[in-house]
Amino acid sequence: MRYSNTSQPHIVHKVQNSTASIIMTAIATLGSHCSLQVLKGAKDEGLKTILVCEKKREKLYKRFPFIDELIMVNSFKEVLNQKCQSILEENDAVLIPHGTLIAQMSSDEIESIKTPVFGNKRILRWESNREMKEKLMREANLPIPISVSDPKDINSLVIVKRQGAAGGKGYFLAANEDDYNTKRNQLISDGIISKDETLYIQEYAAGVLAYLQFFYSPLKEELEFFGVDQRHESDIEGLARIPSEQQLKTNKVPSFNVIGNSPLVLRESLLDEVYNMGENFVKAAKKLVSPGMNGPFCIEGVYDENAKFTSFEFSARIVAGTNIYMDGSPYYTLLFNEPMSMGRRIAREVKTAVESNQLGKITT
Ligand code: AMP
Repeated sequence: MRYSNTSQPHIVHKVQNSTASIIMTAIATLGSHCSLQVLKGAKDEGLKTILVCEKKREKLYKRFPFIDELIMVNSFKEVLNQKCQSILEENDAVLIPHGTLIAQMSSDEIESIKTPVFGNKRILRWESNREMKEKLMREANLPIPISVSDPKDINSLVIVKRQGAAGGKGYFLAANEDDYNTKRNQLISDGIISKDETLYIQEYAAGVLAYLQFFYSPLKEELEFFGVDQRHESDIEGLARIPSEQQLKTNKVPSFNVIGNSPLVLRESLLDEVYNMGENFVKAAKKLVSPGMNGPFCIEGVYDENAKFTSFEFSARIVAGTNIYMDGSPYYTLLFNEPMSMGRRIAREVKTAVESNQLGKITT
């Protein structure tokens, strides 16, 4: 391997003797979230791989031989710069959006990206904005928890959320208005949320967490169910490990900060409804936000004691929970006779689109 040792931003570090791809299109993504899985999948499909890498993570990402080029940046926002976009353009790159892109850039910024973005970059606005999100979920007929517009109206256990892909950090539970105000004030004084931040209040849905991962192929016009994961969130989970006596003595507001994910398989009798929910979501997205929900997405919620699903959230792009299936998921084993990660599935779609001259159908 040969790397330039200059500290200037945007220097492309090339790996010597990187495998020549038959297809010239490259797969690019930001170095975080699920980038390893995405780029490994792209390499497995014979595509060139590019990572937009923050300098602080250079050492980490240099460990992985399937990354052909690193575009070094001080901050991910530099992906919006002309220079960075030119490098991506020279490589005919397709940018794979993930949670870090949404967390670090505004919807306007994402929509201004000139590099072709895999899937539908306009639907990412619907993921980031709570009202738009609720509208799309309603259109898809997803059973969603009731939202509470005024803290005065809290009369059952609610979860209070921040806007955007905050990853559960700063979320809290409240049982009534006083409880809401106490916890909100505490989080403001701890510097976790700001005073003028609009919080979103939603009825708490209890049950078994299930994050349903899908892929919709606009080329095949087919929905695939990929897998299910559960998120492990700190320190709400930590709370369950201490006896109630100690729980009652702590004033700390537990958060829902995602630490990692683990796999889950569903009762087979639930699968039909899972496909229906995915198909309804694809249909609703086609109606509300052209060209629709193309590529990977996730419907997130809980199953209650009657196996009834309530959905509190969706992600309109690859979720980090797919990282648990880097070698293929249980449900993709049923569809593909080869190890197929979500990253590889994305690269396969790009490859098929390039080969059939339909890249415009799978990117925006
Ligand atoms: P979200 O940002 O909406 O994905 O929420 C982050 C985490 O908060 C989820 O992974 C759940 O653990 C929890 N959560 C969110 N909404 C609800 C809800 N309505 N009922 C129960 N738990 C929720």
